[in-house]
Formats: sequence, C-alpha cells, structure tokens
Amino acid sequence: MIPAAFDYTVAESAEHAVQLLGEYGDEAKLLAGGHSLIPMMKYRLATPTQLVDVGRLSDLSYINQENGHVAIGAMTRHRDLETSAVLAEACPMLAHVASLVGGPAVRHRGTLGGTMAHADSASDLPAAVLALGGTIVAQGPNGRREIAATDFFTSYFESALAADEMIVEIKVPANTGGWNYQKFNRRAQDWAIVGVAVADGGNGVALVNMGSTPLRASETEAALASGASAADAAAMAANGTTPPEDLNADGAYRTHLAQVLTRRALEAAAG
Ligand SMILES: Cc1cc2nc3c(=O)[nH]c(=O)nc-3n(C[C@H](O)[C@H](O)[C@H](O)COP(=O)(O)OP(=O)(O)OC[C@H]3O[C@@H](n4cnc5c(N)ncnc54)[C@H](O)[C@@H]3O)c2cc1C
Repeated sequence: MIPAAFDYTVAESAEHAVQLLGEYGDEAKLLAGGHSLIPMMKYRLATPTQLVDVGRLSDLSYINQENGHVAIGAMTRHRDLETSAVLAEACPMLAHVASLVGGPAVRHRGTLGGTMAHADSASDLPAAVLALGGTIVAQGPNGRREIAATDFFTSYFESALAADEMIVEIKVPANTGGWNYQKFNRRAQDWAIVGVAVADGGNGVALVNMGSTPLRASETEAALASGASAADAAAMAANGTTPPEDLNADGAYRTHLAQVLTRRALEAAAG
C-alpha cells in the first residue's frame, strides 16, 4: 500500500502545469483531488515518477452561467457542484449527480476535471456530462481546444487528451428539459453497479458501468426520437454494450438493470 517513489512539483498556473507535462513526458501525472490517482499509485497500478500538483489552482474553481451554457473550472470540487446555486438553477442534474458521488470526504476533495480525465466508466459525473452533451476544454502547449464529450472517452481509463494537455474547463448546456439520474448500488456511497443519466427530455441518455467507457445509449435515443414509448426505448438501452462482469453483477444482470433503470429515468424525466 506504499506508492513507488516519485518527485512532486506544485504548478503555479495551468500554463506551468502544461509546461511541466511537456518536460517530464509520460513519467508525469497531474494531481488534482488525488482520490483516484493516489489509490492507483498505492496499488501500483500507476507509477508516475513525477507528480504535478494542480489542486491549488483556485482560479480553475468556478461555476459560471454564460451564453446558454454553464462553464465549470476543472478544479471545481464535487461538493461545490452539489451546493451550487448556479447549477441548481441552470443544470440541476449535475448538482444532483455530484451529491451521489462517494461520501463527503470524496466529494470535498474530488474535482470535476479529475473525474473526467480519469475516464472511469463506473464514475457518475462523466456519464452526466455525456448525457448533457457537454464539452471538455483542454489546454496544451499551443493553447486551448474543445472536445465534445461524445468524442472524449476512448477506452478503459483513456481519453482524447494528449499527454501534454490538461482539462481546464467543462461546459454543459444550460436550462435543458427534463432530467433524471438512476444510480443502482447495494450500499449508500458505493460506486454504481449500473447508472443511467437522462438529460434534455431523453435527447441524451448515458450509461454508467456498461462498457469500457461511459456510453451514450444511442439506440434508445434514436427510438425516442422516432416516437417510441419510454418502455420500448428503454428495452434497447443495453444494445451494443459490453457490460463488465465482476463480483457485483454479471453481464446479463447489468443488461437487465440498464433496461429497468433507463425506463425509470425516462419516465421520471417526463414528469
Ligand atoms: C472511497 C472512494 C469512493 C468513490 N466513489 C465514487 C463514486 O461513487 N462515484 C464516482 O464517480 N467517483 C467516485 N470516486 C472517485 C472520485 O470521484 C475521484 O475524486 C475522481 O474520480 C477523480 O478526481 P480527482 O480530482 O480526485 O482526480 P485525481 O485522483 O487527482 O486524478 C485522477 C486522474 O486524472 C488526472 N487529472 C486530474 N486532473 C486533471 C486535469 N485537470 N486535466 C487532466 N488530467 C487530470 C490525473 O493525472 C489522474 O490520472 C470515489 C473515490 C474514492 C476514493
């Protein structure tokens, strides 16, 4: 449970962090809340030799409503999402989903940028951002670029971020239609065995823990767009997915959960 040896540098700005990533290359990892990276280092599933601490970049902690969307700084903690008056008004789904992440200690340290970059298909907030049709703003040596959430998650714990880029902001559309989030776990504060996020009255449906990445339930979305009932559309929720098998659930059980939870979420989102 003791990580391999590493050096540690505090980044003074996003530009400084990107510069350090460029200098250290594959050996470096950004440290934000540390609630995914440090456990992985303790299990030696990650062995970076250089940590670049971005957790003190308070100018990247904000939630602002701007021209039809909400802009959220990458260092914004889950607890800040949960309690944000801006999100309560403009994007209550994100605040609600943040309130379901782990326990209070996790929510006070974990950051939105960290959970997006970690790209764990079992995480709650990435699926919510995916359902909402959000955008990830990455900063690299040549400036900023925007990546649609639909293009961001590429494989197990892999994203479209380059090794010398950091997430600086996440944008989600403001004031979209009906929403709901269903998280199925056996004990409060556990990770989702399966989760379903419905946004914009069913235009966005995303699945947690149903494959190697957070996924859009595209057949369900297409069926709803063609006028299918919630029940008929939900029956397609797991089509095209490869649900993981573990001690909590096998693939058939996760498939069943995805269908049931999607129906519940669609019906609740419709009010
Ligand atoms: C006990 C426990 C329970 C948890 N339960 C849940 C749960 O129920 N649901 C859930 O969704 N999550 C859960 N989590 C995970 C938690 O939400 C993490 O905080 C989150 O996944 C990672 O955010 P972080 O800021 O801690 O990132 P870190 O651990 O600091 O970093 C994670 C990864 O992202 C990279 N990174 C961090 N910030 C950036 C950035 N701005 N740009 C680019 N790369 C970056 C790091 O280099 C690292 O590879 C749990 C964690 C713990 C320890």
